[in-house]
Parts: sequence; structure tokens; C-alpha cells
Amino acid sequence: MTVAQTESPPAPPDWNRTGVDYRAPMPRPKIRGKFIDFHCHLFAARHGPAWFEAADHFGIDMFFSMAPFEECLSIQRMYGNRVRFIAVPKWMEVGPNWVDEWLQRLEMFYNVGSRILKFHFAPGTLASRNWKIDDPRFHRIMDEATSRGMMIMSHVGDPDTWYHGKYAADVSKYGRREEHYRAWEGLLERYKDHVWIGAHLGGNPEDFGRLQALLDKFPKLHLDCSATRWMVREISQRRDAAREFFVRNQDRILFGSDQVSGDDRNYDFYASRFWCHRKLWETANLVPSPIVDPDLPPDRQPVLRGLALPDGVLQKLYHDNAVRLMAAVGDRIDE
Ligand SMILES: [Zn+2]
Repeated sequence: MTVAQTESPPAPPDWNRTGVDYRAPMPRPKIRGKFIDFHCHLFAARHGPAWFEAADHFGIDMFFSMAPFEECLSIQRMYGNRVRFIAVPKWMEVGPNWVDEWLQRLEMFYNVGSRILKFHFAPGTLASRNWKIDDPRFHRIMDEATSRGMMIMSHVGDPDTWYHGKYAADVSKYGRREEHYRAWEGLLERYKDHVWIGAHLGGNPEDFGRLQALLDKFPKLHLDCSATRWMVREISQRRDAAREFFVRNQDRILFGSDQVSGDDRNYDFYASRFWCHRKLWETANLVPSPIVDPDLPPDRQPVLRGLALPDGVLQKLYHDNAVRLMAAVGDRIDE
């Protein structure tokens, strides 16, 4: 018994439960120009070596990262034109002057080239900060950003699995999806002349009806398709409808990975995220997802069902839409 236990192989890591060879060659996608990841979190320059080793393997040229301002210059010195920054507030410190501090940071980010301001309005964040999406104090920050010509990105919503799970268990604390989207719509209306990017497919990849209605109502609204486990689970779940949605809205969706760097993360971890995204958008593969999905029980882990998007759609998703939006704010990233 003891012998058998010590000899049994270690459990596979969460990022590779199926034993994928993440070093196996994968050709670059068939696109012209840079392959751009419009939503990620490269937090520190010291995470760069493993991050870019994986990025190079999977052909990703450029990243729009939400890094703490204190890391931006080192990242920029080491990786130059491969990274742009999305402005974020100083995350852990919310003092009484948070609006003024946020405005100051916004200017600092603007000065290092940021042209996008991100708001994290996920239910957990709203609850922990005691924030309301429609708090007029956010208008001050949004007014400042839009008057500088910056785009706004927001994370509103969260997976249905969470709204039906931990959020449903304490609705007074977390609120309901309908309330969150009503408040967001108020902001979209107020800033309807400005480009707004709804992260993680507007935070509701479970409901293309809702997303289509938002896109139709707000012509400047765009979506990014970031988040790996969430997208793999929900896009695969409604594969045909998802493919139709991407083809129909091909000018309004940007590729993002939501890759998150960390001191404990290595090549294989980063590779697992890039691998899943590329398989999901580019291929017609039907394979068990190599990444453990903690939102599903062990015997119901997701099967990745690739969309095999047409080359012309991938061209826009991976490159054209990001280049067009950035050119409109004076950043010609393709040169
Ligand atoms: Zn993110």
C-alpha cells in the first residue's frame, strides 16, 4: 500500500490534465500583420521571459496589458513595442480620495501611452468596494478619460455558474445580473459616442441574445473574447450559435486571452491558455479541455469545440479591429 502510493505518478497539473505537448509546433494563424492580444495581465517585467517564450511559440506578437503603473516602464524597456498598457487604478488601496488618486493615475498612464481605461465592475469587486456601477463619481473618471479621447473597457457581469452559485447565495451582497446590466446600459447610453469595450464577451457569453441587443443598440460598443476557462466552457456549450455570433459581429470583437502572469507560473501554464484560445477560435477540434474547470464537477469537465472561424474573421479578431480602434486614438500599432 505504502509502496504503491509512493510510486503512483503525481496528479497532472491543473493546466494540463490531458497531457498535451505544449511545445508541439503550431503554425502562425493565417493573418496579415501582428497577432494582437487585446486583454491580458502581464503584471511584472520579471514574468516576461516565460510569458514571451509562450507568446512566441503561439505566434502572439503584441499585448494590451493591465499592469500596475510601477511596472510599466520596466516592461516597456524590456519588451518595447510588444506591450501597450491599459490604465487601471492602484488596486489594493482605496482611501477616501480614491477618485482623485484614480484621476492622477489615469494621467500617468496616459503619459506612457495608454489609450484605454479599464473598470472592474464584477459583482465580487462591487461588493468588496461597496461600489455601484452607476455611482456618479465614476462619471468624473470616465469624463476625464473620454475627454482625452481614451476608450473605456469594463468587466461587467460574471459567469452564469457564479450568478447561480455563490452570488445567488447572497443576492443582497452581490446583486443580480439584470441590475448590473441595467446600470451598465445607463453608462453605455451616457458615453454612446465613445468606444467602449465589454470584456469577456460583455461578461455574458451564455446569452448571445443579450449581447446582440447591446451591440445593435450601441454602435460604438465592442467586445473582447478574453478569459480561457469561461470561454472554453460556454462557447463550446453553444458552439454553432457562437460561430454565427462571431461571424455576424466580426467587426466588433477583439481577441483577448486574459492571460495572468505570476511568480508561480511557467511556460506550460501560459501555453495552456494560448493553446486553448487558438484551438477554440481557429480549429474545428473536438477535444477535452486540457485545463481543469473548477466550475464543473470532475466527471463533467468541458469538451473544447472549436469554431473554425473563417480566415477573414480571424484577420479582424486577431488584428484589424485592434489596429483600427487604436489608430482612431492616434496609436498606429501596425507600423
Ligand atoms: Zn482580465
